[in-house]
Amino acid sequence: MNKFDVVVIGAGIGGLSAGALLADSGGFQVLILEYLPFIGGRCSSLKHKGYTMTTGAVAIEGGGSLQRIFDDLGLPFDLRYPEPQVKYLIKGQQHEPPKKGALGFLMTEACGSPDEADRVMKGLRETTELPPPDVSVADWLSGYTNDPEIHGIFRALCGGIISLSLDEAGAAELISLIRARSFRRFGFPPGGNAEIAETLGRVVERAGGSILAGSKATNILIDDGEISGVQWIEDGRKEQVSCSFVISNAGIGKTVELAGRQWFSAEELSRIDQAKAAYSMTIEILSHRPQIDFPGLLYLPEARRAAFAACPSLLCPEWAPEGMHLNLILGAPSRSEEPFDGQTELELLLEDAKEFFLDFDQETDDWIMRSFRKDWPGLRILS
Ligand SMILES: Cc1cc2nc3c(=O)[nH]c(=O)nc-3n(C[C@H](O)[C@H](O)[C@H](O)COP(=O)(O)OP(=O)(O)OC[C@H]3O[C@@H](n4cnc5c(N)ncnc54)[C@H](O)[C@@H]3O)c2cc1C
Repeated sequence: MNKFDVVVIGAGIGGLSAGALLADSGGFQVLILEYLPFIGGRCSSLKHKGYTMTTGAVAIEGGGSLQRIFDDLGLPFDLRYPEPQVKYLIKGQQHEPPKKGALGFLMTEACGSPDEADRVMKGLRETTELPPPDVSVADWLSGYTNDPEIHGIFRALCGGIISLSLDEAGAAELISLIRARSFRRFGFPPGGNAEIAETLGRVVERAGGSILAGSKATNILIDDGEISGVQWIEDGRKEQVSCSFVISNAGIGKTVELAGRQWFSAEELSRIDQAKAAYSMTIEILSHRPQIDFPGLLYLPEARRAAFAACPSLLCPEWAPEGMHLNLILGAPSRSEEPFDGQTELELLLEDAKEFFLDFDQETDDWIMRSFRKDWPGLRILS
C-alpha cells in the first residue's frame, strides 16, 4: 500500500499506543515505522542467554495511563505486583514505608530527628506555588535541611523516578510527582516488557495496519504547509508513502530534524534545543541466588550512585533460566552533560552493587553494564 491515513514514526510504547488507539477506532489505516529490528523502544525486552533483559523500563505502573489504554482497547494488562512494593535500606536495616506518610517516616528513620523531617514536610505542604524550573531539588531541599541522610533519600527518589541527580532534578517536577501520588503501584509483566509492546502491535496489524521494523524515517514531507507523506530507508532502499497525519515518537529533537526547522517558532526551537537527555546506567547481574531478598524495589539512599536494586525473577521466574536469577541495580550519574565519564560512573555503580547485593562476588555468573544516554536516554527533559 502506498497511502496510509497516519504514519507513526517510532514503535516505542508511545508510538504503539497511539497507533493501536487509532487503528482500533476503525477510522484510520496506520503504518508504524521503527528504526530498530524490534518494537517497544525503551519499554521492551530482549532475550539473552535465557534471561529477559529490559531495554529500559524496569517497573510498569498499574492503574496508570498505559493500563487505561489497555482497558480502552479491551486487552488484558498482565502484571505481577510485588508486595511490599518498595523498601528503603537505611543504616543496614530494610524499612517498609507505610502507605500514608511514607516520606516523613523514611526521613525520620534516616536522620533520627522527627523535627528535621517535619521541617521538610512542612516545606512541601507550604510550597503552594511550584519553584521555577531552574531550581533543583538540591537547592529547594537545602532551604529546609542540610541533613545528608535526608538528602540521600531524595537522591534515591530522583534517580529512581526521574533518572537525574539531586543537583539536576527540578524541584517543581519532583514536588508535582509526589503530590500526584503517581506510580504508587507497579509490577512486572511475566512475558517481559516485549509482551506489552507486541500486544499493542497486534491491535494495529489486526485492524489492517502495518509495522515495519528496521525502517528508519528520514523525512516528513510537507507540501504547502500540509503533511503529505513520509520517506524512510529499509534495507538500504529509499521508500515513501503518502499520508494525511504523522505522529512522531522519535523524540522532539529528531522530529524537528525530520520535518524541518522552518515549521517551528523561534520560541519552540529554543526550548527544543535546550532539551536534555538524562543518563541512566544499569548493571544487570545474572546469579545463582537472588541478590535482594524480596521482589520489589529496594531503594538505596546511602549508595554512591545507585537509586534502587531489584530482583524481578523472584516474582517472574520466567525471566531467568531455571535455578538462576536476574538482578539489577539502577543508577543516575552525577550530571547528564557531555563529556560523560563512563569509567568513573561504572566504578561507582559497581562498588554499590558489591556493597548492597547479598553476595555479588560469590554468586554472580555474569554481569552486564548498560549506559542509557544521548539518543537512548533514561528520560528526555524539557525545561
Ligand atoms: C534504564 C531505564 C529505566 C527506566 N525505568 C522505567 C520504569 O521503571 N518505569 C517507567 O515507567 N519508565 C521507565 N523508564 C522510562 C521509559 O522506558 C520511557 O519513558 C519510555 O519507554 C519511552 O517511550 P517512548 O515511546 O516515548 O520512547 P522510545 O521508547 O524511545 O521510543 C521511540 C522509538 O522511536 C524509534 N525511532 C527513533 N527515530 C526513528 C526514526 N527516524 N525512524 C524510525 N524509528 C525511530 C526508536 O528506535 C524507538 O524505538 C526507564 C528508562 C530507562 C532508559
